[in-house]
Amino acid sequence: MIEFSAIRDARDRIADHVLSAPLVASPSLSEIAGVSVHLKLEHYQPTGSFKLRGAFNSMLQLTEAERSRGVITVSTGNHGRALSYAARALGSHATICMSRLVPENKVLEIRRLGADVHIVGSSQDEAQQEVDRLVAEKQLVMVPPFDDQDVIAGQGTVGLEILDAMPDVATVLVPVSGGGLVAGVAAAVKNKRPNAKVIGITMERGAAMKASLACGRPLQVEELPSLADALGGGIGLDNKLTFAMCQALVDDVVLLSESEIAAGIRHAYEKEREIVEGAGAVGIAALLARKVTGFSGPVAIVLSGRNIDMDLHRHIINGMVPT
Ligand SMILES: *Cc1c(COP(=O)(O)O)cnc(C)c1O
Repeated sequence: MIEFSAIRDARDRIADHVLSAPLVASPSLSEIAGVSVHLKLEHYQPTGSFKLRGAFNSMLQLTEAERSRGVITVSTGNHGRALSYAARALGSHATICMSRLVPENKVLEIRRLGADVHIVGSSQDEAQQEVDRLVAEKQLVMVPPFDDQDVIAGQGTVGLEILDAMPDVATVLVPVSGGGLVAGVAAAVKNKRPNAKVIGITMERGAAMKASLACGRPLQVEELPSLADALGGGIGLDNKLTFAMCQALVDDVVLLSESEIAAGIRHAYEKEREIVEGAGAVGIAALLARKVTGFSGPVAIVLSGRNIDMDLHRHIINGMVPT
């Protein structure tokens, strides 16, 4: 498990490099929920997702020698972009391995940041094999996308900031894939407010954490295309941290259909005037679909990213995405 102090330390460490994202009221969602609902605008980070927090918290703890060897990771796009950005800022170099499921716009931004890009296979697992090969061959330093102390502590700073801005928070809705974000946020929030609920939200199409929690051990699920592409991939059959933390700290994981996710993206745009990607919209979508109800106090929803292909976004806004 991650110590609360590790999250506090992460916050100080990364303060100069990441945005302390605003937590803003949503009148429309507050009306639907019957309690005050606020949105944590993590998609405002310079790389368009919260992943910058974990990436900087890891990279800032590497030695000079490690940084000069270069870093490597597997990614569905946003962690790769964050790591490439952090590597460039700190004078290191990143290699990013991704599957063919990663949207082209995400790959492009990673290339733009000067990273070496390897597109391998059609799942995170296959891309991870390329990471393992390159680590062995080139002694690159691996910065995992979620199952890592420093990454989880970095993502947990989102929870600290929510607590600071909303000390009476009763429920936090957090997108879930590998579980680094929700584990970190839950560790932060429950340290100060043990009775607050932390609910994970993910898509029906390939919900590895949900299936694993139901079964009591990490499970492999088939990876499928989804509007919430950033939530794709497994949790690792040898998961060390996020599975156990989710078992202990996350109150429930809720699943959404593709059309529910599309409705979340549309609501974000039309009512909140925010452009978010599928994964970033699932908290809003869960509330709209009434899949999380019975709120006992103020709600915070993490909008985790905005790196959606803009043609796809236009199609969704125009109701043209078949789901
Ligand atoms: C990575 C990511 C998530 C999920 O984070 P995990 O730590 O893997 O659970 C959610 N939303 C966006 C936009 C992401 O990039």
